[in-house]
Amino acid sequence: MWSIRMRASSGRTHVSGAETLSRQEDIITVASSFLLRALCHKKGMPSEIVITVEKLKESPSSVAPLPVKTLDCPSPEQAKIIIKQLLKKEGVSEISIKKALSIVYSSTTMRGASLIDIKTGRRLEPDKSRGVRVSRLGLEEASEERLSGILEKLGINTTRVKEALILASKVASCPGIVAELCISDDPDYTTGYVASKGLGYQRIPNIKEKGSLSGGRVFFVKSGSNINRIIRYLEKRPVVVSVEK
Ligand code: AMP
Repeated sequence: MWSIRMRASSGRTHVSGAETLSRQEDIITVASSFLLRALCHKKGMPSEIVITVEKLKESPSSVAPLPVKTLDCPSPEQAKIIIKQLLKKEGVSEISIKKALSIVYSSTTMRGASLIDIKTGRRLEPDKSRGVRVSRLGLEEASEERLSGILEKLGINTTRVKEALILASKVASCPGIVAELCISDDPDYTTGYVASKGLGYQRIPNIKEKGSLSGGRVFFVKSGSNINRIIRYLEKRPVVVSVEK
């Protein structure tokens, strides 16, 4: 298996990124699709595109996809109430939720995710402008049709949902991470989510206004966790999502 990663930037501004795992025979197809994605991004033409193709040194472990649910939510105001309710259930403090909301609703976007202590609200990622980028993640080949089938039934069988669900399923499997909050920075995509092992993947429509450039990701971390170990897992540990028959 190979890890394929793409990042596109314009000066110091992150434009787009993508990552997956691929079989050797699919490298060209996958890398080309990432290149196309970088060249056609709504945020504009990047001035630099980096594609990394790297053979995995360890074989991936597999995790099940989180169960998916789409909530009713008419507005960003209501979305904030839902986010608070869900995160409180997972033991995230008021101050940590406030910090997370200020990050994901900020118009300054990061390439990766912020790590926030669930009790103190302190940011734990070493590079606050970049964040931590989850990498080396993919979908087991035999599970592709099964996952498409599950999402098809829900009317959300898109690459975007699939990629986000794969990411959320890896993140939820990381020891020390309690929950995740995500808002896309795509101005046309206004469905975000809260995810965790216990809650599953809960999609929140109208999480932001259409046209808004804000977005971001936050991973909530159990107090006292080993941050380096968490970052190593998120960035380096190969994980594939596998759907049982
Ligand atoms: P997207 O849903 O792709 O629009 O991403 C929304 C935000 O999530 C981005 O602005 C990044 O801050 C963050 N993000 C995207 N991809 C990753 C990743 N692989 N790992 C960590 N954070 C990410």
